[in-house]
Amino acid sequence: MGNDCDGVLPPKAIEGLKLFNEKKFFESHEELESAWRDEKGSIRYLYQGVLQVAVAYFHITRGNYEGAVRMRERSMKLLKDYPDVCRGIQVGKLKNDLDAVIQEVKRLGVERINEFDQSLFKDVEWNEQRIWICDRCGTQMHEKNCKVTCPNCGNRFDCSDLNIYFD
Ligand SMILES: [Zn+2]
Repeated sequence: MGNDCDGVLPPKAIEGLKLFNEKKFFESHEELESAWRDEKGSIRYLYQGVLQVAVAYFHITRGNYEGAVRMRERSMKLLKDYPDVCRGIQVGKLKNDLDAVIQEVKRLGVERINEFDQSLFKDVEWNEQRIWICDRCGTQMHEKNCKVTCPNCGNRFDCSDLNIYFD
């Protein structure tokens, strides 16, 4: 599974991760599900595993104990074989965060799940790799340490020159 981890994240997955960190878990799940649907390769199971974390957290916000615990099991089944970092996503950290959350949910139990402290929902962390397209020949460029080079025509620039285009 891990051999597919080097690629970039599609925009819908990135949007899903941003919504996750805004604690908009239902909306996050929708974006990630859309990324999952669009992806034909096995990396789709990474998106599915992450979206199930969002669903587990959503269940907690709704006081759904059984749903949260069940969704954690399903998510871990998908995420367990991924390395700690895949497609720039800190999968290892996410799994630890999920386990800590479910541990607290189980401590509270069905009766007291509404007392769950939502500050225990930690952000998912990821590195957003940018895709550069050569403006001379249209080839995808390589970036290393902010040096961007076109493998086709040799066009090159320093990415710090272009920061004006990004917020
Ligand atoms: Zn070029």
